[in-house]
Formats: sequence, structure tokens, C-alpha cells
Amino acid sequence: MVQVEEALQTILAHTPVLEAVEASLVNPNLRDSQLSGDDAEAMGLILAENVHAESDLPQEPRSAVDGFAVVASDKAGERHVLPEITAGKPAAIRVEPGTVAPIMTGGVLPPGADAVVMVEDVEQRDGIVVIPPGTRAGQHVHPVGADMVRGQPVLAAGTRIGPAEIGLLATLGQVRVKAHRVPRVSVLATGDELVDPWEPLGPGQVHDSNRYALMAAAREAGARTVWQGKALDDEAEQERLIREALDHGDVVLTSGGVSMGTRDLIKPILARLGTVHFGRVNFKPGKPLTFATAGEKLIFGLPGYPVSSLVTFEVFVRPALLKMQGRRDVFRPRVDVELEHEVKPDASRAEYQRAVIRWEEGRFLAKTTGSQSSSRLLSMSGANGLLLIAPGTERLGAGSRVPALLLATV
Ligand code: AMP
Ligand code: MG
Repeated sequence: MVQVEEALQTILAHTPVLEAVEASLVNPNLRDSQLSGDDAEAMGLILAENVHAESDLPQEPRSAVDGFAVVASDKAGERHVLPEITAGKPAAIRVEPGTVAPIMTGGVLPPGADAVVMVEDVEQRDGIVVIPPGTRAGQHVHPVGADMVRGQPVLAAGTRIGPAEIGLLATLGQVRVKAHRVPRVSVLATGDELVDPWEPLGPGQVHDSNRYALMAAAREAGARTVWQGKALDDEAEQERLIREALDHGDVVLTSGGVSMGTRDLIKPILARLGTVHFGRVNFKPGKPLTFATAGEKLIFGLPGYPVSSLVTFEVFVRPALLKMQGRRDVFRPRVDVELEHEVKPDASRAEYQRAVIRWEEGRFLAKTTGSQSSSRLLSMSGANGLLLIAPGTERLGAGSRVPALLLATV
């Protein structure tokens, strides 16, 4: 049996960073054959290259406000008004002492002018304006390179492409970037008792919820689910379906069939198809978690209990999926929380209890989500954190401080 840290190290040591592909800012014609239309879009992918500015931004000095372009040192009280400078074209006039040019926000500062006075601060009457004293050179002017200097690094490899990065790429005129391919994940549920969610339940049957929850979790982690199936507790059938899942995915997730029962058949199958790196973790919920590799592909044998399968996904599978996408920080943020009530953990294992964490008066407070039974999926719903309770902990009183992983915003 391995400890949580060792399990994570083993998984990440066997997890490849997937190759870079061309991703496009907007143009769906730039689709890569391996990718769906969605994946070809840069949004949400991780940059695989550094991006630099190829020119200054702005390229010319521009007015930051609507007003009048002036010579700052000009002492004239009344000044003659020149033709207006609108945005989007070079300034065709020259501002001399005694004159001003009306200018729009974003208009190119005309030669001669070195400052802009806001329209609100100016007195205007028939063809002349009166500029108040005290104009500073450079006032309300965006100088060349104010936002970005030619050659400057703008985005670093490893950055997630979000709305601001999309905006920056568009600003730079860069419509294609290299980004890491997202992993393809195959999901297989096992169990004689499973029926599809749209079918009525017979005696002893349960709806297969893990397959759907795991596909949703994989998508939420940025992966693409490409194959899914359901197998009876039959060794030949399970082996055939795992082989098929491997053909389609970079990662295979199985659910159920990894504990100690006579119908738990996954571990020996994985040992035949690849290398099993561990088959038990000192972890609750989800001790039987099994991790194997077949070449560059990862196979996670997740436990069958609905909570165990989702929590082991969160703690062990999600970091691997993020690493494959090129993410540098693959772990959730960790904070210290103060318990609002007593917690009695399972002292024999590291226990990850689901909790609702909130910020109040300068500290994080946490309540667990009620019964932490591995079959009770309700204990996951609404949880935004996992309390990390070290093995050997018998009891934590109200007010105790424990570390927690933040799964969602507080
Ligand atoms: P197992 O690990 O296969 O022994 O399954 C443990 C428990 O989880 C059993 O009560 C199963 O019925 C339940 N279970 C297994 N797979 C699923 C699934 N796909 N959806 C919902 N419950 C499941
Ligand atoms: Mg089973």
C-alpha cells in the first residue's frame, strides 16, 4: 500500500506532456485532424510557446481622452481651432503656438502638439478656445510603447489561454499559436448490477452514475471524452473493452471491480495489458485505487463507490490530466481552514472529507457535508473543498485548523 504523496509522484512521473498543435484564435478552418472543432480553438488550452510583441503598442503617441491637442508651453489665452483629428488615421495638420486641434480618444497626436486638454476643461466660443493655465507636457497622451514595447515577452509557455490572453493574441495580430493537445479520455464502468440511467431498476440493480460523473469530471478538467462503455463482471468482456478504450484514449478510467471481491477482476487484467504501479493507497475514500500504464497511456482503476470514484479522480487523475495539457501548476490551491464542528476521521488512513468552505472575518471556516459514506454522492454536491486529515488523527474539535484543497470558489 502506498501513501498519497508517493502515489501522486508515481502518477506524475509516468504522465507525458502532450505534443503541441496549432490552435487558432478564431478561424475554424485551421482545425487539426486530431482535434474536434472545439479543441482547435485556443481558448482554454495551454500555450506551448512564448509570445513576444513584434511592435510597440501604441505605435504612435495617442490621445487618451476627447479634447484638444496643444503645445504645453504655449501661454496664449485664446487659441485658434484647427480641423478635428479623428481616430484611425494619421494626423494631417501641425499644431503651432496659438492653435489647438480637436482630437478624439485614440486619435494620433499631431506633430507640434505634446499634450491634450480635456474637452470638459476648455472654454469654447466661435472658432477660438480658451485653455486653462498649467498644462503639462505629456498630459493625457499615451506615449509610444506605453502598453507594450517591441520585443517584450507577452505570454509565456505554460500559460492558460483565457479571455485576456485571447485579447492579447488578437492585439498582437497573432491568429495561430502553439498549444498543447488535450488528452482523450475513455471511460468504462463495470458491474453486473449496473443499468443505464434511463432504464427502470430491477431488484439489486443500481443506475450507472460513475460513468456520467467521470465523463463530466474529465471534461471539467479540460480533457475530451472519446469513448465510453459498460462491462459485466466478466473477465473476457472487461479485457476486450479495456483494450478498446486504450485504442481510443490517452487515458482510460475504469470504475468498480478493483477491490477484494471474487468479481473484482480489473487488477489482473491491467497487469496483463501493461504495468501496474500500485493497487492500493492509504487513502479514504478510495483505498483500492489502481494505477497502470500501457506504453505512454495511463489507466486508472477507480473504485466503484460513487464518492470514491469522484474523489480519487479529483485527487489523483485531475493533476495528471492537467500535466498532459501542459499546465505547470497541477494541484488545487491549499488553504488552512477552521472547523465549525467536531470531526471524527478514520484514523487508519489519510481522509479527504468533503466540505463547504466560506470566508468570514479574515479566515476560512469549514463545515463538512454531512455523512461521509462512500456511497453517499450527496456529500460531494455543493462541496467546494476537501479537508486533508492526516492518518492517525482520532478527533478534531470545533475550532481546530486543518489544511484543505479548494475545489471551487469560496
Ligand atoms: P465495486 O468496487 O465494483 O465493488 O463497487 C462498489 C460499490 O459501488 C457497489 O455498491 C457498486 O454497486 C457501486 N458502483 C460500482 N460501479 C458503479 C457505477 N458505475 N455507478 C454507481 N455505482 C456503482
Ligand atoms: Mg463491482
